[in-house]
Amino acid sequence: MSFDREAKQAAKEDQAQLLSVGIVGFGNFGQFLAKRLSRAGHRVLATSRGDYSEQAQALDVEWVPDADDFCEEHPDVVLLCSSILSTEAVLRALPMQRLKRRTLFVDVLSVKEFPKRLMLKILPPEVDIMCTHPMFGPDSGAGSWDGLPFMFDEVRIGEDEKRQRVAKTFLDFFRQEGCDMVPMTCEDHDRQAASSQFITHTVGRMLGGMGLEAGAINTKGFNSLLDLVGNTENDSFELYYGLFMYNQNATEELDKLEESFAEIKQQLFSRLHDAARKQLLLEDPEGAAGNAPGSTERGP
Ligand code: NAP
Repeated sequence: MSFDREAKQAAKEDQAQLLSVGIVGFGNFGQFLAKRLSRAGHRVLATSRGDYSEQAQALDVEWVPDADDFCEEHPDVVLLCSSILSTEAVLRALPMQRLKRRTLFVDVLSVKEFPKRLMLKILPPEVDIMCTHPMFGPDSGAGSWDGLPFMFDEVRIGEDEKRQRVAKTFLDFFRQEGCDMVPMTCEDHDRQAASSQFITHTVGRMLGGMGLEAGAINTKGFNSLLDLVGNTENDSFELYYGLFMYNQNATEELDKLEESFAEIKQQLFSRLHDAARKQLLLEDPEGAAGNAPGSTERGP
């Protein structure tokens, strides 16, 4: 973009409270956010490892495959939508020196302590950092975003009025889409998400492995389980693995799930055992031991 065009674009965006948002990682979730951002009037550009030129065009998004070109477009916001596992490599490969100094970096990773630490470590001090987690995705957020939680942690936002405004405008986009805005530290997020989101994905994947099928007498409860299976199976295994690997609270929750399942199974089997014993004793009060299943001997 020429200097003149860039200045005009900046003036226009300032006036209209619109941003230019550069999405890094244009997979499932990157495209999902791009669609709404673009619809709300923000300028959206995208870059990714793969070729998403057609998808970008369909969403009215500028496709900029080259990372240098992407940064030279000077987006107000760099929105990291890469997989959890690849984010460090993706971030390190960005030519930061080509961005404008007050760029706001925002991530949407489903774990939060990890990208917070990563961005604080890698990003130059002159850029701003916000960690966010939209608690919905292309399935649960296919319709209205009304009331859907949007977690955010303004990790490092400069006091300068322009920087504050970019951060506020970015958050306002989600607010205006109807999201329930939840300010929360990354650490609190990971504690809570391990026992909610990670468990949801785990149970969904476990049930998915059972090959459950819809039938004529489905209850509402069973239909919600089928929905859960569908939702979790639409997310990549890499995403799920990231929830486990990059959230230190996940192992404990997995252990609790296993213990709880073992306990329930134990309750069932102990009752079954008691019932079987009672039945045995009642049926043959005189010679129960001799008539125990598998026994061939009879008492005198
Ligand atoms: P994902 O599998 O977690 O990530 C796919 C994205 O990561 C693609 O843009 C892909 O780029 C990029 N990527 C993967 N490996 C890469 C590598 N080695 N080098 C460079 N880029 C690589 O699926 P997703 O659903 O789109 O999620 C994206 C992010 O959003 C994740 O961090 C996830 O935690 C977060 N999030 C997802 C949801 C959801 O419902 N899906 C909700 C909230 C937050 P290419 O396709 O170009 O290879």
